[in-house]
Amino acid sequence: MSVKTSEFDLNCKACPRLSKFLVETKIKYPAYHARPVPAFGVKKPKLLIVGLAPGLHGANATGRPFTGDHAGIILYEMLYKHGFSNKAVSVNLQDGLKLKQSRITNAVKCLPPENKPIGDEINTCNRYLIEELKVINKSAVILCLGQISHKAVIKALGFKQSDYPFIHGETHRLDDGRIVMDSYHCSRYNTNTRRLTVAMFNDIFINIKALIDV
Ligand code: URA
Repeated sequence: MSVKTSEFDLNCKACPRLSKFLVETKIKYPAYHARPVPAFGVKKPKLLIVGLAPGLHGANATGRPFTGDHAGIILYEMLYKHGFSNKAVSVNLQDGLKLKQSRITNAVKCLPPENKPIGDEINTCNRYLIEELKVINKSAVILCLGQISHKAVIKALGFKQSDYPFIHGETHRLDDGRIVMDSYHCSRYNTNTRRLTVAMFNDIFINIKALIDV
């Protein structure tokens, strides 16, 4: 069976529910990006971070993953602390932030209602993740934020989910030599409930740094 792959498309309307929601969002918030959100960072990263999907008043508004989203505060702080960027905060596309050796994308490129993409949307959007994973070096570390992102990455790489279950803190060495690392998503909910603490997230980045030099 051939799998459809595609380069990022700012005009993608493959998911009817999501494209309708983006149209409604743009009417309500005309200044917002309200389109598929492209990946951000260097083209050939040593670290690829895969989030879930843009947040309404964050990435969906600014057009950059995790930018303006609560989840982005801790993520961009960690990237800076561990030498992956020139600034600790991500504000907007004009803020001069530059990632080093890293790139951030989402499993689903469009804002989903209530932050919850449905299975069909995650699967349809996988064509873009397949392409993004194809162009990075095989030695890159792929950090999956949350179970949905993890499953989307395993699917995009063509592996069986049951061979590589999501486990926070786990470093999966895939059969093709790729390295997939799992973390709980750095969402407001997870950090408020302390499912993911700053110290836990810091440990993830320490593990990443042990695998790649930045
Ligand atoms: N913003 C993003 O871009 N991705 C997430 O997963 C959460 C917030």
